Amino acid sequence: MTVDQILSTKGRTVVTIQPHRTLTDAVALLAEKRIGAAVVTGADGKVLGILSERDIVRALAQGQHVMGDPVSRYMTSKVVTCMRDMLVVDVMEEMTQGRFRHMPVVEEGRLIGLISIGDVVKHRLAEFQHETDALREYITAG
Ligand code: AMP
Repeated sequence: MTVDQILSTKGRTVVTIQPHRTLTDAVALLAEKRIGAAVVTGADGKVLGILSERDIVRALAQGQHVMGDPVSRYMTSKVVTCMRDMLVVDVMEEMTQGRFRHMPVVEEGRLIGLISIGDVVKHRLAEFQHETDALREYITAG
């Protein structure tokens, strides 16, 4: 199964935020969209970073005054991205190795989707179920 197959079911909408927006804005956005991370993009749509709930928790450990600080101060700038033809098992491996749960999908420098660990697990479980059903049918058919 490829990243593209996940995107075709879940959609290609990516929630983004601009780097000058505050952590308060980011919290409101994540809460409203019920998600765990936003991709930080410039006015030209270029990916500048990613800000996840974990970054916000880490920032808050310094005190509540950080809520007025810009997103750019706490985002991760070195974003690991994937391409649409990448296998979901490989995305899972990268997320496990890198210890993160979100991976933006890019094509020719453009953001075309985002895969979360939740999407990966959901599709892997569906694959396992499919294999189990096929094996059961094979055994009982004889
Ligand atoms: P997460 O598990 O996605 O909430 O993120 C854990 C940490 O990894 C946070 O510091 C994020 O900014 C960072 N992070 C999340 N996704 C990525 C990614 N695709 N590439 C690099 N860092 C990431």
